[in-house]
Amino acid sequence: MHLGVAAVIFDWAGTTVDHGCLSPLAPFVEVFRRRGIALTAEQARGPMGVHKRTHLERLCALPAVLAAWQARFGRAPGAADVDALFAELVPLQLAVLPRFATPVPGCQATMAWLRERGIRIGTTTGYTRAMMDVLAPLAAAAGFSPDVLVAADEVAHARPWPDMCLRNLELLGLADPGACVKVDDTVVGIEEGLRAGMRTVGVVMTGNELGLTEQELAALEPVERERRRAAGYARLRAAGAHVVLDGIAELPAALEGLMRHPAAG
Ligand SMILES: [Mg+2]
Repeated sequence: MHLGVAAVIFDWAGTTVDHGCLSPLAPFVEVFRRRGIALTAEQARGPMGVHKRTHLERLCALPAVLAAWQARFGRAPGAADVDALFAELVPLQLAVLPRFATPVPGCQATMAWLRERGIRIGTTTGYTRAMMDVLAPLAAAAGFSPDVLVAADEVAHARPWPDMCLRNLELLGLADPGACVKVDDTVVGIEEGLRAGMRTVGVVMTGNELGLTEQELAALEPVERERRRAAGYARLRAAGAHVVLDGIAELPAALEGLMRHPAAG
């Protein structure tokens, strides 16, 4: 243990792999497109971080989607519709996952820093176990292989409930959530960590808040980059994140500050 940190619990897409959290986007847009409903990327990204079936439920509840669904089918979407959407989403998501398994910049170095200090590495995700069975081995081959992985369908309640974080503690054999730090690129992922009693770190530039690949981010005009950076920082701070960073490359330095001045976040 270093600085009183026993474990860091990371999110997957947008935090440790898949710069910009792009993998889930096309599948969500596609299952609604098949029903004649056009989703913007911003709409599709809104509920990111929750269980993928819950994500579909939330998209169905968007006023614009609800109106379009009513106009097309003469009724509001129900649970059976969400089940059908999810059944179609799963193979689409499984098919695209291999393209989005690359660790974000600094991921391997941050993991090595944690391991050198005996800090355990846990993970939670909005993906299901079947999806993680595709993603995790590819991420491992690319250099990211956490000690523990809990998927959204392996607990009674996924984010923003704390269940996945608490299951991480159980699997790691750790008693104290106060000695753990949750790192995530979404509001629900920060809420998950807070509700588990953990310190939380938000990441903005690699995640869903910007929604950009490394190349797209590098190509952003400086003014626009700063505008979107500030908006992302504000959202994750408002969610309660103790610390907000550009990405996990900055985590080692941030942990030192976070654990020395835990109330200053
Ligand atoms: Mg994420």
